Amino acid sequence: MLRYLIAFLFLVQGATAKAVTQAEVMAGSAKLYRGQLDELRKGYRLDDDERFGARVAALARPLIEQAKREFPETTAWDWELHTTTDGDANAFAMAGGKLLVSRAYVDELALSDAELAMLLAHEIMHAVLRHNLKEFEEALRLEPGRATQPFAEFEYDIDNDSALMRKLASFNQQQELEADREGLLFAARAGWPPQALAAYFRKLAKHSHSPNVARFDHPSPASRWHAARELAAQMEASR
Ligand SMILES: [Zn+2]
Repeated sequence: MLRYLIAFLFLVQGATAKAVTQAEVMAGSAKLYRGQLDELRKGYRLDDDERFGARVAALARPLIEQAKREFPETTAWDWELHTTTDGDANAFAMAGGKLLVSRAYVDELALSDAELAMLLAHEIMHAVLRHNLKEFEEALRLEPGRATQPFAEFEYDIDNDSALMRKLASFNQQQELEADREGLLFAARAGWPPQALAAYFRKLAKHSHSPNVARFDHPSPASRWHAARELAAQMEASR
């Protein structure tokens, strides 16, 4: 009997000790996104500025269509785009193409259309480059024991366990730089002038209280502006 019990426990253990999958990450993101939208809706802050929503949609739609052409797996995604005037939100993209953009953030930086397109392209790159999944994979590499942790707990810890977050900080900074670079190239392919896109990072640096300081999971605004400016200059020189 005991032998069977041990065999059974071993099977259960084996069933949870597996790699995180893109499907799992997307399902988790969809749920978190739904929760955030519900919160905003309750406070009458979801899609609460029609004009702003229309502006963001007009800029985002062609970029999402381009993402589907360039990254075919994303044609099957249930892409979603919402806006809010809530000041705490700024902008994000979750796995599976779930986007939210805050007008408060766009207003604060007084973003032009090209700069807003840069912001959107950066967020879209996080999604199409599977940055959420890669972060989970990196966390598993750093802490292999998490393979047996229920996914929902692991997902919570990725954003809330400060010890784990500290370990992931430099990895996440690299992901930010990748989203900046790939986003700029991506938006340029959509027809936006590289220098006009790079100007987004100039505004980020200008509005930052400490432009030379890296903030936990984000590189310093000054270094992002420097990298974008260099890339845009190279692109314009090679035209
Ligand atoms: Zn980012």
